[in-house]
Amino acid sequence: MKHLPATYAGRILTGAYSRALQDRTLSAIQASEAIDGYSFPMMHYITAWNQEDNTIWYEFVGYQFIELLDTTIEDISKVFRDSIQDQRIFHYSDQAQSTVEEEVITRNQLSTKRHSLRENVQKKREIEAVYQVALPSGKKIWLKDRGKVELFPSDNITLTFGCLTDVTKEMEQKLFLEKIGYFDDLTDLPKRNILKKLFEIRTGEKERGYIKEFSILMIDIDHFKSVNDTYGHQAGDSILKEIASLMISLKRKEENIGRYGGEEFYGICRGDTQCGVKFAERIRKNVEDRLFAYKNTDIRITISVGVASTEDISKSSMNDLLALADKRLYQAKHQGRNQVIGAP
Ligand code: GH3
Ligand code: MG
Ligand code: MG
Repeated sequence: MKHLPATYAGRILTGAYSRALQDRTLSAIQASEAIDGYSFPMMHYITAWNQEDNTIWYEFVGYQFIELLDTTIEDISKVFRDSIQDQRIFHYSDQAQSTVEEEVITRNQLSTKRHSLRENVQKKREIEAVYQVALPSGKKIWLKDRGKVELFPSDNITLTFGCLTDVTKEMEQKLFLEKIGYFDDLTDLPKRNILKKLFEIRTGEKERGYIKEFSILMIDIDHFKSVNDTYGHQAGDSILKEIASLMISLKRKEENIGRYGGEEFYGICRGDTQCGVKFAERIRKNVEDRLFAYKNTDIRITISVGVASTEDISKSSMNDLLALADKRLYQAKHQGRNQVIGAP
């Protein structure tokens, strides 16, 4: 093979493989080498997996990754595998790819699950995972792995072009929030008790004059009991998740959404009732327009929303604001559902 990279320790370029695979590998190695060192904090790699004898090795590894694990390109495959403490896989749980699920795999489960994980990667042609890695120094870090997979069936080889980034800070924050019970298990939204904190933060801003008013939304799914009765509880759960991720995608940075309990959600945003109504209307309209797919069935859902703002009450007490939003929510229900009410 011509132009063999100087530090090459892979097998494809020197083995009995097809020209197509060798050309693809060589050009990918050259491209990776060219940016290695200029793409901090990304660490590029190329792996090859031989399905016949189930071996996996690196065709290219960025120098930062080798340095991080204090090893060599020949040993990095084993060293990396042995250093993994914990792994989280992210996959889409529905066809529309709107809900991302996280699967936690412990070190003990890894060896038994490795085969099915590889098969899954093969099928989806991409990797998205986060690993907790113990460095030779004893320090533990989290690495995010994203990669694209290419299959070369006649060679029995699967190539992965991937990139690792250090996401220790992000993961530590996430684990901390998980530990204190910030997020609801089903929907991944902040739980009910977080509303109190948000209320206190907004009240502080109002008292210091940063904002004039803020609003609370009480959101309730219409006739949700009959959704459960008609399609089953699992369908109901799946819709709750999808509505949650839809609302998250619709909210602006300074707006918040959480799960109040059951099929009820809360929203909180800066601004008067009119601002709150706009926020609520954006969600209501998008829910109405969405087809919620569950096992080949398209399900239509609507929501009712009550909005109350600090301008509507004499002193900002969370209970008063919630009671008013709740009263307006019930008004919306009585007036025919699928609507937002923000004034008496
Ligand atoms: P309305 O329009 O008046 O709000 O009618 P509704 O049927 O939505 O209201 P109701 O309060 O009678 O019923 C709420 C339903 O929500 C009943 C309950 O089974 C369902 N629900 C609450 N939490 C969950 C959940 O976590 N998963 C599922 N699948 N259903 C839930
Ligand atoms: Mg309800
Ligand atoms: Mg309801």
